[in-house]
Amino acid sequence: MRAQPKASHFIDGAYVEDTAGTPFDSIYPATGEVIAKLHAATPAIVEQAVAAAKRAQPEWAAMSPTARGRILKKAADIMRARNRELSELETLDTGKPIQETIVADPTSGADSFEFFGGVAAAALNGEHIPLGADFAYTKRVPIGVCVGIGAWNYPQQIACWKAAPALVSGNAMVFKPSENTPLGALKIAEILIEAGLPKGLFNVIQGDRDTGPLLVGHPDVGKVSLTGSVPTGRKVAAAAAGQLKHVTMELGGKSPLIVFEDADLDSAIGGAMLGNFYSTGQVCSNGTRVFVQKSIKERFLSSLKARTERIVIGDPMDEATQLGPMVSRPQRDKVLAYIEAGKAEGATLVTGGAIPNDVPAEGTYIQPTVFADVTDTMTIAREEIFGPVMCVLDFDDEDEVITRANATEFGLSAGVFTSDITRAHRVVDRLDAGTLWINTYNLCPVEIPFGGSKQSGFGRENSVAALQHYTELKTVYVAMGKVEAPY
Ligand code: NAD
Repeated sequence: MRAQPKASHFIDGAYVEDTAGTPFDSIYPATGEVIAKLHAATPAIVEQAVAAAKRAQPEWAAMSPTARGRILKKAADIMRARNRELSELETLDTGKPIQETIVADPTSGADSFEFFGGVAAAALNGEHIPLGADFAYTKRVPIGVCVGIGAWNYPQQIACWKAAPALVSGNAMVFKPSENTPLGALKIAEILIEAGLPKGLFNVIQGDRDTGPLLVGHPDVGKVSLTGSVPTGRKVAAAAAGQLKHVTMELGGKSPLIVFEDADLDSAIGGAMLGNFYSTGQVCSNGTRVFVQKSIKERFLSSLKARTERIVIGDPMDEATQLGPMVSRPQRDKVLAYIEAGKAEGATLVTGGAIPNDVPAEGTYIQPTVFADVTDTMTIAREEIFGPVMCVLDFDDEDEVITRANATEFGLSAGVFTSDITRAHRVVDRLDAGTLWINTYNLCPVEIPFGGSKQSGFGRENSVAALQHYTELKTVYVAMGKVEAPY
């Protein structure tokens, strides 16, 4: 068991096991090897974690933002020093190639701890509001116990993106990683303790769709931040609404990436490939509907096909590997079914579409796949596939493509490639999405807000905007004279 943690859960500063919980295996998707055996949280474990968080939070909230931030920055340093070890664990957890995890996973988690650790002292201030002789002031106060629930595509990053703004604002957190990727968050919990975080403030418990509701419905929890699919988002938001809890919803998408004929073609193709094949296509903000202006369609497709067929598929621990397996067999099978639907509904398979040769039989690999001649009504153009499947759609003019790009229930992201600067700004202004890119795709540094609109969710992660979602505003009116009452 090469990635077995000391126990399944991390509560109140220590590993905790409860063997009464449903057992489950952690599987390395590249080979099917069982790398850890764990137990889902029982109601007693949920209770223990929330109680530890509730107990620890008031003292933490009473510390200055600078003092809290110092601990987060120390955690960032430890994560950077252990980048290789954490990246290997992330690769085992997810199957993503080490070439990616070494630059994108623990490092982006560390960026988050560093950013929020540094910004808190300046960004958690309130306002002074003059009212003549009287005045008012506002304070940003923590919510209390926050719950984070993660997806499986960026387990360490998601844990840090939720923990950093929550903790620096003075909250405690109970985090539940996806049952597919249970390992990384436990290491983050260990590192935070090593950095000096008082025990009980960041707790990790394991479990699945049966465990999540116990956390969401717990009366001592004030906020829930979910990264997951739209159907799960609906359930979690509905459950939280029953107790009027704060929620942040980072959900799925079917984002448009629009390539105009005046675009730098190499960059546009590179952006489309990154926005469909990075992390084996398991990225929520991916630009999976690639709208290409008809006049450049043939050139776009021939270069895209050649570059896609050069992608190196293989052992994720080999630094030369560019595309690893999907996270799990059910996810791989789901993607294969979408590919069949694409073929059946008349899309042209440009490349890929099958399980590659020369990979372990138990690995959950799939070829990077491009469909052309995709129309708006096809299943593959409407539903989130969450795998390495790019749909190329043709368009004639700007108004048409904007209308079609917006004709979706999702609104997470969008991108435009053009060398016409006014067109670029005009188009992004009319696209319905929370996060947009001009002449690049999928870059999400911690300094900029990230999140969706429409069914892709609400609330924002990263940037100072995230702090607003982990605090409440307290307003204090101060009278300087006598009360004038008419009775
Ligand atoms: P999922 O919705 O199946 O599960 C997400 C998490 O919610 C898991 O931890 C799961 O155990 C938990 N869960 C499931 N049902 C629950 C319930 N009723 N109550 C509480 N918790 C529950 O998603 P997934 O398959 O793990 O991840 C893929 C999805 O996540 C895709 O749709 C993707 O677009 C989305 N995603 C969004 C973002 C973003 O930031 N917008 C980032 C990554 C992934």
